[in-house]
Amino acid sequence: MQLAQIGVIVVLLLAWAAISWRGRRALDELGRGITALDEGRRTWPNRIRTGGAVGRLTALFDAVAPRLEARIERLEQERRQLRAVLSGMAEGVIAIDPRRRLVFANASADKFFGLDASAVGRLVAELVRSPQVQEAVEATLTGTGPYEGEINLPSREPGLRVPSRILAVHGTPLTGSPPQGAVLVFHDVTELRRLERMRQDFVANASHELKTPLASIKAYTETLLDWALHDENVNEKFLHRIEEQADRLNQLILDLLSLARLESGQDFYEHGPLALVPFIESCVESHRGRAEAKNLNLTVNLSPIGNDTLILADEEAIRQILDNLIDNAIKYTPEGGTVRVRGQLLDNCVAFDVTDTGIGIPRDDLPRIFERFYRADKARSRELGGTGLGLSIVKHLVLSLGGKISVDSRVGSGTRFMVKLPQFQPPLQKS
Ligand code: ADP
Repeated sequence: MQLAQIGVIVVLLLAWAAISWRGRRALDELGRGITALDEGRRTWPNRIRTGGAVGRLTALFDAVAPRLEARIERLEQERRQLRAVLSGMAEGVIAIDPRRRLVFANASADKFFGLDASAVGRLVAELVRSPQVQEAVEATLTGTGPYEGEINLPSREPGLRVPSRILAVHGTPLTGSPPQGAVLVFHDVTELRRLERMRQDFVANASHELKTPLASIKAYTETLLDWALHDENVNEKFLHRIEEQADRLNQLILDLLSLARLESGQDFYEHGPLALVPFIESCVESHRGRAEAKNLNLTVNLSPIGNDTLILADEEAIRQILDNLIDNAIKYTPEGGTVRVRGQLLDNCVAFDVTDTGIGIPRDDLPRIFERFYRADKARSRELGGTGLGLSIVKHLVLSLGGKISVDSRVGSGTRFMVKLPQFQPPLQKS
């Protein structure tokens, strides 16, 4: 073989070695690029250019990788948004697989059921010890359509740190037969159910309260028509009873209307600057006759407030608050006792209290006396012409004026109601 031919062969061999070495490096780089894509890193475009199949593969990867990266980023963003939406939901959401293992729980579900990060992958029956939740899970997984129900979730910690709740459950089986799992949504309806119960109680109480005086009026009227009309021993007495019951009915309707107006949120009061001291004094005076008739000592001391102290309130609202409190104090204080109205300035508030030396309110009843129709002693309240609505109206009024009301009481010693209202500072006049 001639030297020139050997030279050509050597050159060709060297060229082939260089090309295959470059191809291997290009393949290595492509491998690294695929790994990086999998790990969410970016290493493309490939730097080593080569021809042939490897070159075409590298070019294809360079073209596809950025599109794949963008798609993965979009999916990741959607996943983050979905998580944010789920974790911001007031409803608890859990997803379970067909083997009843927890796949996902959002923040509200964690709170309802006391779940933590280790919960995913564990059996729901182990995590949530509520037979009603198990029933909801089973019904969703084995039923033919979505499941709707309501469960009572007992308080989780002694001392009611996590109080019992009523949860409405909506369970949806995931597609497949049998289902590939289920999603259950828990909506806290505790407050809604409480309000519904209150409304039902209110309607029942109101009907009962209205029926009682009406029944008396009807009975006395029938008796008068039957035989008592011309019996001078009883006819006047019966007519007085009818008048009393009609007054009670009237008071009840007025109180119900006041409450309805207050609760409707429509402000029919016109709040304006009101000098409290002269107003309270005149209200107290209007009760003096009744207090004296019962031999009660009615006193008023408002000197710490000052005559020109203002609040922003409608006269009628303040009159209703005071009338109810003073009326109760007189009603529930036996003869010879004392009813005292005092005022003081506290921070930026005007405070006044109505204190009596009356029968007092049992401790167990205290938290409930501002509820509609709640009375510590039903019979006594009725006998004294009470409707059971006065304090409820007072509380609504005080709150609507931006104030606070509280009560202290001891059975047999007396009761003190304290009202705190924001003081009104008129804007300074420009001279
Ligand atoms: P009522 O018309 O029955 O007086 P209220 O709503 O004004 O209704 O008061 C609710 C209940 O609170 C009363 O029935 C009574 O049991 C109790 N109560 C209110 N004020 C006093 C008081 N000053 N002393 C003792 N009990 C009171």
